Parts: sequence; C-alpha cells; structure tokens
Amino acid sequence: MALMKNFLDRIDDGKNGSLKKKILGLCITDGDFSIADLSKELNTSIPTITKLLSELIEDGFIEDLGKQGTSGGRKPNIYGLCSSAGYLVGADIGSHHISVAVTDFKGNLIDYQEDMPFVLESTEESFREMCGMLLSHIESLGIDKDRILAYGINLTGRVNCETGFSFSYFLGEERPLSDTLEDMLGNAVFIDNDSRAMAYGEYICGVGNGEKNMLFINLSWGLGMGMILDGKLSYGKSGFSGEIGHFPFKDNDIMCRCGKIGCLETVASGSAVHRFFTDRLKEGRASVLRPKFEKGEDISLDEIIDALEDEDVLAIEAMEVTGRELGRAIAGLINIFNPELVVIGGKLTVAKDYLMLPIMGAINKYSLIIVSKDTTVKFSKLGSKGGALGACMLSRSKLLGLV
Ligand SMILES: [Zn+2]
Repeated sequence: MALMKNFLDRIDDGKNGSLKKKILGLCITDGDFSIADLSKELNTSIPTITKLLSELIEDGFIEDLGKQGTSGGRKPNIYGLCSSAGYLVGADIGSHHISVAVTDFKGNLIDYQEDMPFVLESTEESFREMCGMLLSHIESLGIDKDRILAYGINLTGRVNCETGFSFSYFLGEERPLSDTLEDMLGNAVFIDNDSRAMAYGEYICGVGNGEKNMLFINLSWGLGMGMILDGKLSYGKSGFSGEIGHFPFKDNDIMCRCGKIGCLETVASGSAVHRFFTDRLKEGRASVLRPKFEKGEDISLDEIIDALEDEDVLAIEAMEVTGRELGRAIAGLINIFNPELVVIGGKLTVAKDYLMLPIMGAINKYSLIIVSKDTTVKFSKLGSKGGALGACMLSRSKLLGLV
C-alpha cells in the first residue's frame, strides 16, 4: 500500500493535517470556495488558510480556478478539488453482474459501464476473474494503473468495512478480503455495503442538497438502507447498521433469506413483489404473464416490472402492496430519525407512481404529522449508476480519512 501511504502522507505532513482534511472535506460536500469562505467556515485566519491552500495546490489536491462570480466589485479567486489528482474506480458487484464507474478526483464521471456479466462466488477464482475484468476494463479506457487512487467495491450482504472482512463472501483465509483484493488490483481497496455506498453517492452528488439527516432506501430484490445522520455516514459498531430489510415486521410465517421469519423484506422488496405476483397467478388471477406461467415457465422480477408498461393490474397491485408496507415502515423511521430527506432508490423505482403513491399514503397514515412535515420523500437521482458512482465517492472520502 505504498501508493496510498504516500498519498495520505502528503496531507498529514506537518501539524495542519487535520485542517487540510477539513478543507478537502468542505470541497467535497459543498463545492468550490474562496479563501474568505474557507476562513469563515473553518474559523481559521486568512494567512493560515492561504498557506494551507498553497501546500494543497503544490501537492496536487487543490487547484486555483481563477476569479469567478457574477456580483459586482472585486471577484474573489475560487479554489476547488484538482480533477487531475487521479482516478477513482467504483464497482458495484451483483451476484450476476458488475457495474463500474470511473471518476476523476473532483468527482466528474469519466466512464460508466453497466451490468457486465459475471458470476460472484466465494472462491478465489471468482475474485481473481472480477479483478481481471476491472483491470482490463481500466486498460481499455487508456487509464494508467498508477493514476488510480483507490477502488471502492460494493458487496451485497454483511461487510465490516473497518476490518475489510466480508461475512457473506470469503475465501477461506484469515486475511481481510480487502487486503486480498489490494494485492490483486495493486491499489488501495475499500469494500462496503451496497446500500451504504448508494446513500453516500446520493448525499454527495445525487438528490441530496445539503441535508444533514438523510435516509436512503435501496428497494431492489432485497431491501437495504444507508443513513446519513448529522452529516455523517452511519456504520454502527461493526458496519452492520441499516439492516432495515431484516426488521421484525410481520407475523406472516414467511421465511426470509436471513433465516428469520416475518422480516420487513418478506413484504416490501423485489422478492416480495415476485412472491405476491406468482402466488396470485397460482390462484388463477389474470395477467399478461398468465400464458407464460401456464406453459410452466419461470416469471422473473424484470418481467413483472415490464408488465407495468402494459398497465397489468396484477403487477400494479404487487407494487402497491410493497409500497404500502414500505411506507408504513418509513413512517416508523421518520418518527425515530426525524430526517429532512428520505430517498427511495434501487431497481423497483422504475415503477414510479405505482410505488410512490402507496408509500406516501402509508406515511401520511402512520407517521406523526409533527415529525413527518419536516421530511421530503424523493426518488434517487443517480438511478442505476448510484452504486458504482457512490463507491467512487466513498473510496475518495475513505482515502482522505473523512469517513
Ligand atoms: Zn431477514
């Protein structure tokens, strides 16, 4: 990890390392700054800020963007993150595909590749293949490997990001998975949970607009959550916070994939939509997918989502039921966390109003109005790019020691 060490040393050298990190952190969350803004925001004298900025410029983290602004009078010089400091690679690893985003240091998206086919298994061969795909993809973009600052890798399931251990995928070694991946990729690697990376992406460069309390709901085949609380990404003690999908919610005797019974995920998730839909087909209900079902063929979640375009009533009903249950759970979250913003993301958001209307109805019905009047509910802005792009943003902040 020589490269990462050098990178951090360049900031940590001297006694003002933590102040320099605060400057970089402000540039990440709030954008470009003038010296006067920074001095005010960090409650630090203008000569000190000027000195630290010149060191950060010399080390290649910050660039002088020149005089900007539209107001009359003297225009201040503006400073921001230096886009050419290096690249960040974010990979969202699903069980059957990888999506990869590459950004520059400032966070501009350089390339995005969605759903490259790949089968994830808990074997060294599978991880070797994944690393090989990432490395050859980077090479095909003409990016010099040495210019990559870090990889952010999202793994579904339980991940301890502090120690780098995955509890869902392991290679039978005592070593943290992130160390093994660092050896294979030759750069710093940070692994995290997919919903948390998506939440961070929305917070930094998505629908978030400076809100300090934001909940991100990842409504895909499963149900996950990432939380920004008081402006910080929440991890809990070991990185397992946000397991909303496994909130004990129903007395329904439906077995969850976690092994428990009645988890929220059993009634509010893509898998719940799929179960509701196929159960109703078995009962004889009509649907555009009925002929396929009668031939004995499997019905996929994607096909149910596509049936919404044909205004298939059974598909709409399946979304409504999941939306209602999820809205009821979100009402509880609103009462607990009093968030400014709740973002709904993940695969099912293509259902738009079929999902949002029942969610809002249930929030109105079940939340305390005095609390929920503070909360806006929105769909994710980054959409399917959110996982990989969020992983880029998260790896940058981790590299700088900001998360
Ligand atoms: Zn569960």
